[in-house]
Amino acid sequence: MSQVDHVFYRSQRKKMPLIDRGEGIYLYSEHGKKYIDASSGALISNIGHSMAPIIKAMHKQAKKIEFVHGTMFKNESSIQLARRIIEMCPGNLDRVYFVSGGSEAIETALKMARSYHVARGNVQKHLVISRWQSYHGATLGALSMSGRTMSRKIYQPYMLDFPHISPAYCYRCPYNKEQETCNNNCAWELEHTINQIGAEYISAFIAEPIVGATLSAAPAPPKYFSIIRQICDTYDVLFIDDEVMTSFGRTGKNFAIEHYGVIPDIIVGGKGLGAGYYPIGAAICTDKVFKLFEEKLGSFAHGFTYQGNPLACAVALSVIDFINKNDLVSYVEEMGEYLIKELSNLYRFDFVGDIRGKGFMIGLELVKDRHTKEPFPVERGITKLVSETAWKRGLIIYPASSNGQVQGIAGDGFMVAPPFITSKEQIDKIVALLDKTLDEVYKKIRLNF
Ligand code: PLP
Repeated sequence: MSQVDHVFYRSQRKKMPLIDRGEGIYLYSEHGKKYIDASSGALISNIGHSMAPIIKAMHKQAKKIEFVHGTMFKNESSIQLARRIIEMCPGNLDRVYFVSGGSEAIETALKMARSYHVARGNVQKHLVISRWQSYHGATLGALSMSGRTMSRKIYQPYMLDFPHISPAYCYRCPYNKEQETCNNNCAWELEHTINQIGAEYISAFIAEPIVGATLSAAPAPPKYFSIIRQICDTYDVLFIDDEVMTSFGRTGKNFAIEHYGVIPDIIVGGKGLGAGYYPIGAAICTDKVFKLFEEKLGSFAHGFTYQGNPLACAVALSVIDFINKNDLVSYVEEMGEYLIKELSNLYRFDFVGDIRGKGFMIGLELVKDRHTKEPFPVERGITKLVSETAWKRGLIIYPASSNGQVQGIAGDGFMVAPPFITSKEQIDKIVALLDKTLDEVYKKIRLNF
């Protein structure tokens, strides 16, 4: 007799397999079906599943001390982890505020920026400018900054009144420019918006260096972030770099902002820090920001019970050690070029409109008409069809959720984002499975148009 499942899942429609175990880049269902995890969960399982050194570190720490409250005690794992993170950071980033995930870390950055301005006597500065087609998390502050239309819709009455500017989305440039004619209007839009509202009200600007969940790995144009940095400095606005998806090696650099040679005031990390082994996130700030807490405020009026606990930090430390010991960031940089080159063969399907991204974070955007970039009608559910077809073949990809690319209401795409330990042969297998998947989908959809 089948038991009633009392878990309240996110979807009440989707039928999900029950997973029994994982090993490296593979997952195995209860019935023994083998999947290649080419999405690393949601770009989190960066070093693969059930890796022995991480389990060992977890066990060692749990036996010693599993938890102490962060307002009562320091712990050695958090001190070591913060030191290791700062060593990996660009520029003068100096302090790490630990939390338990991406959304918590984004909320932390929001309050950190606000506290910084209040401490300097700029008490009106409270608005965070963000961009449409972005995702910064599910909690209300993070969602208010997010520009993912479908995720915001029913919670609109709760949204903070934060301004949004156009995304840096070269495939569908909001200013109808091509690469050769790009004059970074989308970056300068930040200055227009600050001036329209009044710099005295603006606390921060937040952006993902490579837009993940909403735009399937869309990088900003090369000069975008140096212009953003310049504008933020001019108007005393902090630049928050949301690297929940991209940090700790995913794009072939420790942090994706390094592709742009810019130093943010706050970097937000999550996902890959714990790599799926334990929930952990972090808001990392510069010495300039921290000094205000140290010299003026004396404390940060914000916190969570689980922040910086020894078990979370020991696990994250072992994840970072694993990445560094195996030189995985350089590997991702090098192999990422191979991955995108091989994936580019999929342009043979005329519904593949764009292939983009960096490192092991490559996005494919699917269109009804490659020439006009017209999206498929939303009701055709093309992303879902591709994803389900891939799953049947044992390949897990990361679908762009909620059709957001085109004005927040349409568009199809997905990411290929395997764990950093994926070999060249395994990349070939992923691309071959994807080729077969797109072939099957292509035949289905072209028959129906
Ligand atoms: N920021 C970005 C860029 C993300 O991709 C996500 C999650 O996908 C978040 C923030 C929120 O992180 P979490 O789901 O761990 O709360």
